[in-house]
Amino acid sequence: MKIGFIGLGNMGAPMAGNLAKAGHSVTGFDMADVAVEGVSMAASAAEAATGQDVVITMLPNGAILRAVAADILPAMASGAALVDCSTVDVDSARAVAGEAEALGVLFVDAPVSGGVGGASGGTLTFMAGGTKAGFAKAAPLFEIMGQKAVHCGDAGAGQAAKICNNMILGVTMIATCEAFALADKLGLDRQKMFDVVSTSSGYSWTMNAYCPAPGVGPQSPSDNDYKPGFASELMLKDLRLSQQAATSADADTPMGQAAMALYEQFVEEEGGLGTDFSAMLPRFEKRSRG
Ligand code: NAD
Repeated sequence: MKIGFIGLGNMGAPMAGNLAKAGHSVTGFDMADVAVEGVSMAASAAEAATGQDVVITMLPNGAILRAVAADILPAMASGAALVDCSTVDVDSARAVAGEAEALGVLFVDAPVSGGVGGASGGTLTFMAGGTKAGFAKAAPLFEIMGQKAVHCGDAGAGQAAKICNNMILGVTMIATCEAFALADKLGLDRQKMFDVVSTSSGYSWTMNAYCPAPGVGPQSPSDNDYKPGFASELMLKDLRLSQQAATSADADTPMGQAAMALYEQFVEEEGGLGTDFSAMLPRFEKRSRG
C-alpha cells in the first residue's frame, strides 16, 4: 500500500518504521527534523498525503489534528482513508470525520494503547471508530503495527473507548496508591498487602500487573525509580479529555473529576512531571491528612 505518515514522534516513528519494514511504501512528514529508516520524507503534510491509499496521523492533540486534516484532506483522493491514531477529544475526531466524509475520504479514529514499547514491538492495541469500509481498509495496517484491533462503532467510538478505559486506570491507580499509603501508616507490610489484595476483591490491573510499590509484585516502573512507563502528564492529558467529553455529553463523573484534579496538582505543582503515573504512591507516602 502507499501510505502517508504525519507525526513521527515517540510513537509515530516506530509505527511508520514497522510499516516500511513490512514492505509498504511510506512517505512521512513531521514539523521537526526527523528521519526514520525506510521512510522517505516529504516537504509538507499535504505532499505526504497526496496520492496515498491511507494517511496515518500520530499527533499531540485535537487542535493540531484539525489543522493538519484541513491541510491534507483536499490533497487526498476520494476512497482513500485517513486513520488518526493520536489520542484526541471525541469532538475533534467527529469533526474531522465529517469533513472527510464530505470529500469522499474514509475516516477512522484509532487511538492506541501499549505505549512506546508497543509501538516499537508492533504490539499495540487499536480501538477504532468509523465506517466498516474505513476499518476494513485500515485493518491490515493495524495487524502490522499491533496485535489487536477492536472496531468499537461509528466515528469517535475509538476515542470514547480510550478515554473511558484511561479514566478507570487513573482512578484505580490513585485508589491503589492511597490504600498502600494507609496500609503503611497502619503498620501493614507492603508484601502482605499485595498478597491479600491481589487475590481479593480489591484486585485490579494497577495492583496486580503494575504494582506502584517498589519490590512488590511484578516488575513495573516503581522498580525503576518511577521512570515512565506511562508518564503522569500523559495520564493527566487523558483524564482531561475524559472530563471534556463528560461535560460535552452531560455525564456525571465525580471520580474522574477528582482523579484529574489530583494528577493536575501532582504534575503542575508537586514535581510529578516526567515521573511514571504510579509515582502517586511516594506522593501519598509523604503526606498527612490535614
Ligand atoms: P510526540 O510529541 O513524541 O510526537 C508528536 C509528533 O507530532 C512530534 O514529532 C511533533 O513534531 C509532530 N507534530 C506536531 N505538530 C505537527 C504538525 N502540525 N505537523 C506535523 N507534525 C507535527 O508524542 P507521542 O508520544 O508520539 O504521542 C503521539 C500521540 O499518541 C498523542 O496523541 C499521545 O497522547 C498518544 N499516545 C502516546 C502514548 C505514549 O506512551 N507516548 C501512548 C498512547 C497514546
